[in-house]
Amino acid sequence: MKSKWIVSKFGGSSVKDAAAMLRCSQIIENNPLTKIVVISATQNTTNQLEFVARAASMGDEETLNNVTQELINKHVNIAVELFTSPAVLTELEALCGELKALGVSILQERTYTPKMMDELYSLGERMSSLLMSDLLRLRLPKKNINFLDARKIIKTSSDFQRAEPQIDLIQKNAATEIIPHLEEDTLFVTQGFIGADLLGNTTTLGREGSDYSAALFGEAINASLVEIWTDVPGVASSDPRLIENVKFIKELSYDEATALATLGAKVLFPTTLLPTKRKNIPVFVGSSLNPEKGGTMVTSDQNAGFSLKGVSQLVRPEGILVSFIGTHLDEKENLAEILQKDLGENSFEFSDLTAVSISFKVTSNKMDFVSSLKVAHDVLAKFFS
Ligand code: ADP
Ligand code: ASP
Ligand code: MG
Repeated sequence: MKSKWIVSKFGGSSVKDAAAMLRCSQIIENNPLTKIVVISATQNTTNQLEFVARAASMGDEETLNNVTQELINKHVNIAVELFTSPAVLTELEALCGELKALGVSILQERTYTPKMMDELYSLGERMSSLLMSDLLRLRLPKKNINFLDARKIIKTSSDFQRAEPQIDLIQKNAATEIIPHLEEDTLFVTQGFIGADLLGNTTTLGREGSDYSAALFGEAINASLVEIWTDVPGVASSDPRLIENVKFIKELSYDEATALATLGAKVLFPTTLLPTKRKNIPVFVGSSLNPEKGGTMVTSDQNAGFSLKGVSQLVRPEGILVSFIGTHLDEKENLAEILQKDLGENSFEFSDLTAVSISFKVTSNKMDFVSSLKVAHDVLAKFFS
């Protein structure tokens, strides 16, 4: 049976500094049904952890030290601004110590394995979630804030950097560690992206995988809703950073959202909708900067008839692939011809059609990533009523 509880995930830009973390805590405070808070590493931290590993493996001690210090300063500054408790500051220092030690061991060995990278990656989420848990303790003094190590719950294969979650084990762990506490006045604060294999080694679900973590936690407690809080008010008809006149989509089906993500829309990690679809849990995507703007609801509901909602794009070795996403696309007569005509016969070539997507290869070498997306979005806009 579905529980009433909500899983809320906050992405890197949503927790990028003290002010951003305060906005997240406000969203959490406003909804007493929020039971599990899933936190990503602060903005750009995961990239910086990659720089650390690369610099160390190349013997570039100066860059290693600089980036390590930047990472430490970034988190300590947030801690200071948030009046983090002395006990949590000590824990943060321990994580900074782990970061330095991993850098030094890569420097000595001049190489690193995917397994070591996952251990290093984990520090980003462990630091940000630690800070967030202490902020929530301060802001919600009556609640028991349970700082949960995601590696206790999210058991995975040993495929480092692209680990496969083990759904039965995740369910079993949630049944002992989380579910008995759901009715208590407890709020779990945990990490996205990371898990552990059966030997206890730290693993990660793939870059940008925190959305997937939230969905896995949602599935494990049979949540009523999974919220993905990011920096845009929902899934848009295309990437708002590249296209000016996007339209934010109010409703999407799991299949449409999966197609958008798989075919290139960065807003959701492609496998996010698998666990939520299995348990029929709605997914909300909204902006932690402007929660009042609402967002997109992703559910099992399908539009009754043909509709086109978004365009996304992938760069593949054989060229750029532009895809239109919608419903009942395979039932619309001559859709490929209609779109192809508007896109320009000489620049795009039909590639693939499913019920929820139709893709075209960009054949003109005059079209780059942005210009081909713009052309496709203009074609899409003709279908908006
Ligand atoms: P987070 O750090 O919260 O996980 P991401 O950077 O992973 O955030 O995802 C949000 C970004 O996804 C937006 O800032 C936007 O630029 C990009 N994006 C790409 N395609 C879309 C789309 N169709 N709708 C909304 N955002 C999109
Ligand atoms: N911090 C990880 C990344 O940047 C996971 C995530 O944010 O989704 O890839
Ligand atoms: Mg993301």
